[in-house]
Amino acid sequence: MKFSTRAIHAGQDADPTTGATIVPIYQTTTYTQTAVGEHRGYDYSRSVNPTRTALETQLAALEDARFCSAFASGMAATTAVLNLLSAGDHVVVGDDLYGGTYRLFSRVFARYGLSFTYVDMTDLAATRAALRPNTKLVWAETPTNPLLRLVDLAALAHLLPGGTALAVDNTFASPYLQSPLAFGAHVVVHSTTKYIGGHSDAVGGAVVTNDATLAETIKFHQNASGAVPGPFDAWLVMRGAKTLAVRMREHERNAGIVAAFLAERDDVEHVFYPGLVSHPQHELAKRQMRGFGGMVSFTVRGDARRAFDFAKTTKVFSLAESLGGVESLVGIPARMTHGSIPQAERERRGITDKVVRLSVGIEDPDDLVDDLRAALDATREIVAPVGG
Ligand code: PLP
Repeated sequence: MKFSTRAIHAGQDADPTTGATIVPIYQTTTYTQTAVGEHRGYDYSRSVNPTRTALETQLAALEDARFCSAFASGMAATTAVLNLLSAGDHVVVGDDLYGGTYRLFSRVFARYGLSFTYVDMTDLAATRAALRPNTKLVWAETPTNPLLRLVDLAALAHLLPGGTALAVDNTFASPYLQSPLAFGAHVVVHSTTKYIGGHSDAVGGAVVTNDATLAETIKFHQNASGAVPGPFDAWLVMRGAKTLAVRMREHERNAGIVAAFLAERDDVEHVFYPGLVSHPQHELAKRQMRGFGGMVSFTVRGDARRAFDFAKTTKVFSLAESLGGVESLVGIPARMTHGSIPQAERERRGITDKVVRLSVGIEDPDDLVDDLRAALDATREIVAPVGG
């Protein structure tokens, strides 16, 4: 079955007890047993819940994969993957990544005896050089957050020795636009809070894989650590995921229009969007992705003050954390999503205070462009006062 059909039907069988067409919210912690240990596969909702099972089946199908475990957040999903490792193991990480992931690695897992090397993963030679005999995991985000760089997944998978797993955070692209498992990744992680849920009303995460052993270990940690989504959140994410294909098409169309508009402005310094022919990895994006996504970042001409003023001036774009919802959002990653990366480190990676990140929603593109134009015009004099 094709993507949209899978999104709507995978895991969505009519309820066996009532025939309800839509999977019910099984708001229960426990299940009555007919005799000790005799039940229908459900005993306790941290371990298993029918609403969550339906979501997991649906999300596995979106990645064309065999197994999925759903989590209470993207960070809980990331934690479950790191739980595959043991003290003494080494991880190579792409250096342009979500700030919360950096915080989890550097301030939590580094204390448990894991070590991390951050590299520019657009540079495969540097990535190869970072590998050590004890490297058990390579962690890639592509496109990266917030600079929209791409990692060549097939080439990366190719250079990894046996015994080193490749995990890809596919949150920015969504499974509609990119299938990392098809390029050799072993594990895919999602913050379902973003495009998959799509309505900014439920926090969630998922780990997807085709490897039965990895899947079993992740399931073990899902139950052992217990960071599971409640039935209602699982249901919200599942409902959102049914429309992922139509939403992504609109996000992408609007992002293309917004990126082209920004690229034309003489008061915008640089636009980061893989769909622009000027993007250094545009060809890779065409090979690896089925579209260029809904995230656009740019730097303003002028100083950080202008970027901050711009971000509070837009009206249709709300100044807010997060991304991937139907509504457009604007943010300053250095001060918001990536605030947990030390300033010097951030700036070395190009995430300066002048970088503005847009999560382009699915409103009418004319209104989005008008909103951006008005905010750029209103803040223009901060950079170039008349006569100065
Ligand atoms: N991965 C990426 C690329 C993200 O942008 C985020 C959150 O912004 C996460 C993971 C973490 O997800 P969550 O906020 O659901 O824990």
